[in-house]
Parts: sequence; structure tokens; C-alpha cells
Amino acid sequence: MYDFNYQRASSIEDAASKHAAADDARYLAGGMTMVPVLKQRLDQPSDVVDLGGLGDLTGISEDGGAIVIGAMTTHHDVATSDLVKSKIPALADLAGTIGDPMVRNRGTIGGSLANNDPAASYPAAVLGLGATIRTNKRSIEADDFFTGMFDTALEEGELITAVSFPVPEQAGYKHFPNPASRFPIVGAFVAKTGGGVRVGITGASPCAYRQSSFEDALSGGLDPESLKGIEVSSDGMNSDIHASAEYRAHLVNVMARRAIGG
Ligand SMILES: Cc1cc2nc3c(=O)[nH]c(=O)nc-3n(C[C@H](O)[C@H](O)[C@H](O)COP(=O)(O)OP(=O)(O)OC[C@H]3O[C@@H](n4cnc5c(N)ncnc54)[C@H](O)[C@@H]3O)c2cc1C
Repeated sequence: MYDFNYQRASSIEDAASKHAAADDARYLAGGMTMVPVLKQRLDQPSDVVDLGGLGDLTGISEDGGAIVIGAMTTHHDVATSDLVKSKIPALADLAGTIGDPMVRNRGTIGGSLANNDPAASYPAAVLGLGATIRTNKRSIEADDFFTGMFDTALEEGELITAVSFPVPEQAGYKHFPNPASRFPIVGAFVAKTGGGVRVGITGASPCAYRQSSFEDALSGGLDPESLKGIEVSSDGMNSDIHASAEYRAHLVNVMARRAIGG
């Protein structure tokens, strides 16, 4: 680990100003990605601004027709929240499949979305539900947030404060886990909301995306039979020792069907 200045933020404003004042700062949330990155010397920030203890960033509430989850809320707290389980059970299910108990007790929704790992679980739900990412500067729609592998629409120093998930009429999530890390090799989140049907896919490609061919096929209702026979192109899909691009393309259809009971 390279040396860095450790700073603990006392408020959202304090976090942003400490970040802006430093030469090359990073926020620290649950540390499940940041700490291994620092330990392996894959990054050399001048300052690490710890968001731990910021009560304004933690918690789950209902706001009109949406469930709002603070950026520092852990995966465990989402998975076990009675509110999430009653309003968006598929989102609680998804959070309960992330990593292992240590990762779920430390890792946060804000850290996961800011990191935008190609195999992260939450991006599928954010895209599938058409969520809104709230930051200390603005609100960003799901469709505009994920811009590439480990890349998002966040600007330098911009801090995710919360994520607002519309409550769907119906939704489901399924993923095919990597047997070692539990990260999805492919995950599919399918949701029917007032705005129509949305299908968010993670793990298959360098960046999470919406499978529009499935959305069209499911527009009459979430019937898994409607997806049978719809080919997914493997062009541009991830390929590694765990799964070829062709296998991932196959899994996209299988996971989407399983997400809605097929
Ligand atoms: C063994 C293992 C298995 C895992 N399995 C899964 C899995 O199955 N599915 C899955 O989705 N993830 C998985 N993860 C990743 C896990 O979900 C992490 O929690 C997540 O990647 C990072 O969240 P964090 O809170 O730990 O963030 P940190 O590691 O603290 O930060 C990650 C990045 O986000 C930035 N950041 C953090 N919070 C904010 C914020 N509020 N605003 C702006 N930027 C911010 C940081 O500066 C840093 O760049 C796994 C991790 C491990 C170690």
C-alpha cells in the first residue's frame, strides 16, 4: 500500500470539500473494493476521504411511489429490510446474493454503483427498475449513469447520496454465480412498472445494459415463454476462464426467463 492521507468526513459537504481540496482523492465507503485495490498498489491516491459514520447517507425510506436507499446502506441492510422485502422483493433478493456475509455487511450500494464493476449485481436492478441516482450535485437517470467498464457519469468528486427505485408492479432477478466470488457471471433483472417493461443485464458485457429485444417481447406481460427462441448476439460480450462470450449470450436468455419464473 502506498502512503496516503486518511480523512474522515463529518458531513456530505465536508466530504466534498475535503475531496476537492486534495490533490487526488478517493472516497472510502465499505472498502470492499477500495482496500484490496490500495493493498495491491493498483491505485495511489493522495487522500482517502472516509464516508463511514455519515448518517445522512444511510437508511431506507418510502417516498411516494419509490423506495429511497442511502448510498452508505449496506447490502445486508437492503437484503433484510422489511420495506424493501414488501415493496421490491426482487431487490432484496438481489442484495442477499451479493458476495458473502462479510461483503454484504461492509459493502454499500453507493460504492457498488460508483465502482461499476462489469459483474456488479445492482446495475441490473438500477437499469431494470429505471432508478434515479441522486448525488450531491444532481439526479442522474439509470439510462445515463453507466457509461463503460468501471466508468459512470459521475464527475470528479461527485458523491452518490442515494438511489431512488420506483416500486414495480412485478419484478424478478436471477443470476448465474461465479462459484468462487459469487459475482454474477450473468444476472438479469426484469421489471414491469407504470412505464412499461425493462430488462437490465449485468455480467455479460463490459458494462450493464438493457436487453431491448426482451423488453419488446415482454410488453404484453411477463411470460417467460415469450423469450424462448430470442437469440442474443455474443458480439462484444465478456469472455474469460469462467465463461465464453457465447455461453454468456446463452445465459442472458436463461437468466431473464428464470427471473420471471421460467
Ligand atoms: C469476495 C467479494 C465478492 C463480491 N461479490 C459481489 C457480488 O456478487 N456482486 C456485487 O455486486 N458485488 C460484489 N462484490 C463487490 C462489493 O459489492 C463491494 O461492496 C462494492 O464493489 C464496493 O462497495 P464498497 O461500499 O465496498 O465501496 P468501496 O470499496 O469503499 O469504494 C468503491 C469505489 O466507489 C467509490 N465510492 C464509494 N462510495 C461512493 C459514493 N457514495 N459516491 C461516489 N463514489 C463512491 C470509491 O471512491 C471507490 O472508487 C464483491 C466483493 C468481494 C471482495
